[in-house]
Amino acid sequence: MMAGNWKMYKTPAETKAFFEAFKPLTESAANRDIVICPPFPNLHAAVSETEGTNIGVGAQNLYWGKEGAVTGEVSGHMLQAIGCQYVIIAHSERRQYFGENEADVVRKVKAALEYGLTPIVCVGERLEEREGGGTEAVLGEQFDGGIAPLTAEEFAKIVIAYEPVWAIGTGKTATPKMAADAHRFIRGKVSGKFGAEAGASTRILYGGSVKPDNVKNLMAEEEIDGALVGGASLDPASFAAVVNF
Ligand code: PEP
Repeated sequence: MMAGNWKMYKTPAETKAFFEAFKPLTESAANRDIVICPPFPNLHAAVSETEGTNIGVGAQNLYWGKEGAVTGEVSGHMLQAIGCQYVIIAHSERRQYFGENEADVVRKVKAALEYGLTPIVCVGERLEEREGGGTEAVLGEQFDGGIAPLTAEEFAKIVIAYEPVWAIGTGKTATPKMAADAHRFIRGKVSGKFGAEAGASTRILYGGSVKPDNVKNLMAEEEIDGALVGGASLDPASFAAVVNF
């Protein structure tokens, strides 16, 4: 799976222009799932531009609950109704700026699944945690608090994205070995909780400064099942080069 996270970039007109350029470049990429996650106001344009293509559309966040007096929030029910198929949950920017925690992750994943959305659940350590030797402890806590409480049936429908925070938007990519080691650790946690088969089959994406010139080496690692791409997903040619690596 190659997923693009547009963060807070692009208008609906820019979204349309992106897909006009992007679609012809990726129409033969049949053996992978391509996903674009634009900001909420662009979802409608993205869904209509990708109709009948191999490209799925996702949101970058959701609120649990179907509807209610929750000013400023968007529900899974609304995302499903507009044609979204995916939703990113607990991106590090949401953890950092909006205080999202593991209890939120569980609530959001369950809400996404209730409305037929595939959650892409982000985990990852900060620089000081890596430098202090705490990477596995952090990943373990995020897994235990945010993912382990799911049922096996729920877990089978999620995608995990390992995104070391120090590599997001910084141009510093984890080496393929660093990423593979983290993925192996997460996979071990999955096997411990949900069984060996779940551990082997769960999709774990790597995210953090993935670009056309480093994607091939990262994807050469058996542990890495795809990428969650921020900056390089904003330009059609560059994201197509990542998708078609
Ligand atoms: C992201 O936003 O999830 C991300 C990985 O960003 P970038 O590719 O720009 O580091």
